[in-house]
Formats: sequence, C-alpha cells, structure tokens
Amino acid sequence: MQTTVPTRFWHALEDGRVQCDLCPRACRLRDGQRGLCFVRARQGDGVVLTTYGRSSGFCMDPIEKKPLFHYRPGSGVLSFGTAGCNLACRFCQNWDISKAVADDVLAEEAGPEEIAASAERLGAQSVAFTYNDPVVFHEYAVDVARACRDRGIGTVAVTAGYVNPEPRAEFFALMDAANIDLKSFDDGFYRRYCAGRLAPVLETLEYVRRHTATWLEITTLLIPGLNDSPQEISALAEWVAGRLGEDTPLHFSAFHPAFRLTDRPATPPGTLTEARRIALAEGLRYVYTGNVDDPDGQSTRCPHCGAMLVERDWYRLTAWGLDEGGRCRACATPCPGVFDPAPGTWGPRRLPVRPR
Ligand code: SF4
Repeated sequence: MQTTVPTRFWHALEDGRVQCDLCPRACRLRDGQRGLCFVRARQGDGVVLTTYGRSSGFCMDPIEKKPLFHYRPGSGVLSFGTAGCNLACRFCQNWDISKAVADDVLAEEAGPEEIAASAERLGAQSVAFTYNDPVVFHEYAVDVARACRDRGIGTVAVTAGYVNPEPRAEFFALMDAANIDLKSFDDGFYRRYCAGRLAPVLETLEYVRRHTATWLEITTLLIPGLNDSPQEISALAEWVAGRLGEDTPLHFSAFHPAFRLTDRPATPPGTLTEARRIALAEGLRYVYTGNVDDPDGQSTRCPHCGAMLVERDWYRLTAWGLDEGGRCRACATPCPGVFDPAPGTWGPRRLPVRPR
C-alpha cells in the first residue's frame, strides 16, 4: 500500500514556501520539511500525508472509554490511531503515540476496506479514530469512514477539534459521533500549555453542534491549579449550555502526571465532583466524571424524574432504564443521544486485535 499520499489542503506562498491549510497552525514548509504534527510534509510542490494506511495498533474497546455515554452504550468499538499531533500539550496523556516519530510506533498496515471488514467480523458497532488526533491523518480517516459507512458501521472521532473549516466540514460529515476536548476555557492556557488557541476549538464545537448530524460530547481534563478554578469551570459550562445546548454531555476527567507536566499532582476526586456540581448548576443536564472510581458521577439519570437511565461502574453497564425508543421507562422523557433498542453487550473488555 502507498503510505505517502498527496493532500488537498495547502497553497503556495510567494516566497517559495507552501502553507499547510489543514489546521490553524498554518505550517509554512520548504521542500523536505515536516509540519509540527510531523506526519504532514512538503514534497515537491505540495503537502503529503506520510502515514496513510499505517497504524499504531488496533483494539476493541467499550464505547464508554472514548468517552461517549450517549452513543450506543455498551457497544464495542474498533479503535485505532496513527502517530503525530497538531497540538503540543505539555500534559499529553498519550504522548508516546502523539509525539512519536512515525516509524517507532506504526507497526500495523491496514487499508480502509480491511478496517471496515474487520470491524464487521469482530462485531464492532463502530470504528473510532482515536489515540492520536485524527485531524492529522485526515485523508486516511475519511477513506476509512467511507468504507465503514458502506458497511453500516458507525464512525467515532476523538479529537481536540483544532482544524480549519474546509477539512472540518469533510471530516465531520462522515462522523456519527465525536468526543471533542475542550482543554480549558482560557486562551492563555491553550497558548502556554498546548501551543494552540482556544477560538478555533470553540468554532469547531459550534460547527459540529449546529451544522452536522454528528452526536457531540465534550471532555475537559482538569489539571490541579491550571484549569480547575470554580470560575473557569462555571464559565466553560455556561458557554456549553448557552451555545451548544443543555443536553450536551460534558465529561470532567482526572489528570495524571505525564510527559512534560510532572510537577502537578493527580486530580483529587473531590475536584471532579465539585466541577460536576458547578456544571449542573449552570444548567447542563448530563455531566460526568472520568478516570476515577465514581459510579454516581458516571451514571445517567433522567433530568425530568430522576430515574436511573444508564448505571455504570467504570466501563460496565449495571442497570438500564431506557425503553426501546431511548426514552425514560419511568416518565417517557427522551434521553438525547443515539440509543439501540437494547444495551450493547461488549462489556468492559479491552482486546488488542489485528485487522486481518
Ligand atoms: S496539520 Fe500539521 S503540517 Fe498542517 S498546519 Fe497543522 S501542524 Fe502544520
């Protein structure tokens, strides 16, 4: 398989360089240079993707692990990523993949058809583009997504949403569900700790919510002392409720010291519980905690009557209170999201697989 492929998102500059137009970073490249993401590079007159069809590995995961709580709960998802990332988060929890020099981690080769067929064979309801940001392997991701759609397999993106409007439209038109990171509600945080900006991420969130059929959930990793103040959490939740709607699920997840941010402690569970309380008070109806043992903070209750809709213990579903149409069995209030007539049966397993 050809693993270096031409891309469409670039333009020539007057000084002889070529600008990559995939993401707001706008890398300006001379022949042979790679962008910050490391996997897109100038070759001749254009920009190429160097990791088409190459993956860091495949795993069958519970959909709850993405995390997606309102998209086909209990189902299994064939998950994969490649290498590289277009942000440079000092706290990256997947840095071995996102910051990898491609050849170190891209052990598996698999074309779009092979991946879609494997998902079908393994009984996966969807394929997830995850582990590193799929924005940087756009051409590969959209081809895999099309192959999945042809077979009736769902498509799931886990991304930071740092992408320009044209590729964004092409990408999300092919995604059934997405979990988008909102790493902070402070542009200074994005600049200092991610080498990015907040505004393009907010634009992506609004675009996905208003102009696509993609089911949207959001994750914010809370880092002690950096983005966990009650004021910031309150402002973030108010924005999500006002601009994206009160039914948008928001996940607050625990940080563990990693990569270039090892001088901060892990997030205390109490911080997540308090963030959840604040966001619920701002009007959001579905707010969850993640990466901690907190069955109450990870279960879905009916906001109308308080009945348990989906009870979770980590990645295991322990009770189900929805009818076949995704409504509360107690009061018939619809639960927003994508629900199968019955809960999935994949369970909490994580199973490495080969796409053959
Ligand atoms: S996708 Fe990569 S090469 Fe293109 S602008 Fe973003 S970081 Fe630079």
